Amino acid sequence: ASAVLALTLAACGGEGAGSNTDTSNADPEDLSIGVSMPTETSERWIADGNSVEEQLEAEGYEVDLQYAGDDIPTQSQQIDSMITQGVDALIIAAIDGTALSSQLAAAADAGIPVISYDRLIRDSENVDFYVTFDNFQVGVAQAESLLEGLGEGGPFNVELFAGSLDDNNAFFFFDGAMSVLQPKIDDGTLVVKSGQTSIEQAATLRWQQETAQQRMENLLTSTYNDGSVVNGVLSPYDGLSRGIITALQNSGYGPTISEGERPMPIVTGQDAEIASVKLIADNVQYSTIFKDTRLLAEQAVIAAQAFLGGETPEANDEETYDNGVKVVPSYLLPIETVTADNIQQVLVDSGYWTAEEVEAGQ
Ligand code: BGC
Repeated sequence: ASAVLALTLAACGGEGAGSNTDTSNADPEDLSIGVSMPTETSERWIADGNSVEEQLEAEGYEVDLQYAGDDIPTQSQQIDSMITQGVDALIIAAIDGTALSSQLAAAADAGIPVISYDRLIRDSENVDFYVTFDNFQVGVAQAESLLEGLGEGGPFNVELFAGSLDDNNAFFFFDGAMSVLQPKIDDGTLVVKSGQTSIEQAATLRWQQETAQQRMENLLTSTYNDGSVVNGVLSPYDGLSRGIITALQNSGYGPTISEGERPMPIVTGQDAEIASVKLIADNVQYSTIFKDTRLLAEQAVIAAQAFLGGETPEANDEETYDNGVKVVPSYLLPIETVTADNIQQVLVDSGYWTAEEVEAGQ
């Protein structure tokens, strides 16, 4: 009998607050929400985790926030344990978008709604909602700012970097960027001198800075040892951009975009990480894409509240995000391109960073 009881409890989501799956009349104080974030090595995920936690706690919910150190088994195990501890809803930013199917099946069995956060969880029917930014537009904006930084004329030598292939966003960023760059490659304005134009060739596993630095070093020795220079680099994330910039500096580029015998190429980015914002202010990195994680957290909280209240959150996109099994209803937030000209207006005036932080780069 005890085995049956244990199984019943497990099927209901365990002994914690989630054991009753009808939460619509519950007090937030009696509900808990599991928040699973990929890694603390990048600032943005720390900001995301903190914002989600603060905003949920302000509504009265109990929060279990976990970071998985970019390790897939750790993330699976953390989510498993959130489910057994009886969370009432899950908010997940996946490391590998395809690796969580069994966790999500268990969540569905326990009646726990799952919100995919920023990165789409793939290959599972049990993803109830997706909150993110307009990821294709991120890539478009990166490519447009690369062209803007390069200016008129050409041909320009550029190299392309992409994100981690287990992250669905990496494809959206790259495809968005290529929608702008491919015509310029075709008409000869841009030359990818290495010939490495596929996402597989450009990819950076787990978005690692050192990996990008090493690939840039390799490109410089393999392709630019004939006196030719790199004029621009498409980079999808600030961490990668800093690795790329370090490789360029070590091989004599810089000090800035406008100074030096071989000026720093136009390098793009994403996330408005503080170290990169400083590099942009100092005219070393050209641009970044700002995604206000406070607003993303807010949408995740709104979605969680809707599900817990027995309702369906409002989507503003119901066609873009096919996860391989279904099209996941999504809420997409807008993005903003930041260059030296609008750091103050976009990042400081909005309270995302203070002027002192931009000055110090930390
Ligand atoms: C996020 C980006 C981030 C990247 C690396 C992507 O899924 O959307 O904002 O730069 O992961 O952490």
